[in-house]
Amino acid sequence: MKKLFIDYDKCLSCKNCDAKCSYFLHPENDGITSLREEIAFLLACRRCEDHPCINVCPTTALKREEGINKRSRFLCISCKSCYLACPFGTILPEIIPYIIGRCDLCLGRLKENEIPLCVETEKCDAIKFLEESEIEDNENIYKIGENLIVKCFSYIETYGLKK
Ligand code: SF4
Ligand code: SF4
Repeated sequence: MKKLFIDYDKCLSCKNCDAKCSYFLHPENDGITSLREEIAFLLACRRCEDHPCINVCPTTALKREEGINKRSRFLCISCKSCYLACPFGTILPEIIPYIIGRCDLCLGRLKENEIPLCVETEKCDAIKFLEESEIEDNENIYKIGENLIVKCFSYIETYGLKK
């Protein structure tokens, strides 16, 4: 079964994602934005013990749960303080918007031979819809759930940082 594939290392260099979203509640690309946030906290975050991002948050929107930072979208006011506090550039300003919609990976919404709109509209070749066997470079590949595959350099895996 085909899955969404995101090359997050490519995504990192892009400030203005062209990807559109077909989910009727967030057609302005909030789907991919939500996935970029999830990937950043899961794979790019260094999981600092003193977590300046969490300490600086004025609304307690950022918390660490089971070793991974999570942002409460109902508490976050998108002040971007966490973006300024992170010494590693993990939190990009564009991935913490005030209003965000969750990506549903187009599950159950695609007809045969259709591809997600984000894959069709994105111009950097960072988002693909493919079979796992079609991934050519197997370095730094991670599965998030059943239907998302990510390519991302992970400091946690590479340097054995605290999980
Ligand atoms: S952007 Fe949101 S999560 Fe980040 S510091 Fe501000 S309120 Fe907290
Ligand atoms: S400061 Fe940056 S790297 Fe450290 S825990 Fe927060 S998001 Fe992760």
